[in-house]
Amino acid sequence: REYSSAYGETGTRFVRVGQIEFGGDEPVFIAGPCAVENRDDLFRIAEKCQAAGAQVLRGGVFKPRSSVHSFQGLGSAGTEEAIEALTWLRDAGREFGMPVVTEVRGEAQVDLVSQYVDMIQIGARNMYDQDLLQTAARKNLPVMFKRHFGASIEEFLCFSEYIAAEGNKDIILCERGIVPMGKGKNFTRYMLDLAAVPVIQKETYLPIIVDPSHATGRRDLIRSMSLASIAAGAAGLMIEVHDHPEDARCDAAQMIHPSELKEIIASARQLRRIA
Ligand code: PEP
Ligand code: MN
Repeated sequence: REYSSAYGETGTRFVRVGQIEFGGDEPVFIAGPCAVENRDDLFRIAEKCQAAGAQVLRGGVFKPRSSVHSFQGLGSAGTEEAIEALTWLRDAGREFGMPVVTEVRGEAQVDLVSQYVDMIQIGARNMYDQDLLQTAARKNLPVMFKRHFGASIEEFLCFSEYIAAEGNKDIILCERGIVPMGKGKNFTRYMLDLAAVPVIQKETYLPIIVDPSHATGRRDLIRSMSLASIAAGAAGLMIEVHDHPEDARCDAAQMIHPSELKEIIASARQLRRIA
C-alpha cells in the first residue's frame, strides 16, 4: 500500500507529547479555547480544563478563518503579538502541567511556533500543503495532522506520509468531519466520519483522535459525539472549551463549559474500560 511505505513499521505506535502518551489503553483529552485571546482568559480556562481531567492544552494563535474580515488570531497582528500569545500558551501549559499544541497555518510560522509548543497542529485546510508538512515535520516535534473536509481516508493517509518521509513518525491523526452532502440543511457544521476511526486503525499504526467541536459546530452535540468516538476506539479527543463562550471571538457556538468537559471525560474513561 502506497501510504504505508514510508512508515516502515506495523503494529501499535505510541506517540509521546510532553509527558503524555497517545495510543495506549487510556484515551487522551486535549482541551482549550478555539483561540488564544488574552492571558487572563487563557490561564483561567487552562486551569479549569486541567481540573476537568484534560491532559493537553490547545489554543489557536494563527486562525484559519474563512473570511478575511473575521478575527485571524493574535499571531496575525504581527511578530510581537505572536510571540506574546505563544508565550502565554507555553506558560499556561507549564503552570498547569499540560503540554501545548497550536496550529501553524503556513511555512513562515513553523520556526517561531516550534519554539513554544510540544506539538505542531496542521489544520484541515492545510492537509494538502506538502511544503508545510515537510517543514513542520523537520522540527522533531510530534505533529497533529487533521483530515481535510474534502479528503478521502486514503488521501489523508497518503499526505500524512509527507511527514513520515522526513523521518518524523510522531504523527497523531485527527478526524474532524467532512463536507456534508445533499440539498438542504444537515444541521451540523461538517459530518463526523466515525467509521474513519476503526478503518484508520486497521490501515496504519498511527493514533487517531476525534475533534467533535469542529465536526459538529454545536455544543449540544459534543457529549454524544465524544462518547461515540471513544466507543469507536479513538485514542483521544480534542474539544474546544470556554467558561464564557458568549465573549469568545471565534467558534462560540461549539465551545463547551469546563463543567461539561469534566462529565464527558469521566464518562469517556468509564466507557473505554467497558468498550
Ligand atoms: C482548530 O482545531 O483550531 C481548527 C481550526 O480546526 P480545523 O482545522 O479542523 O478546521
Ligand atoms: Mn475553533
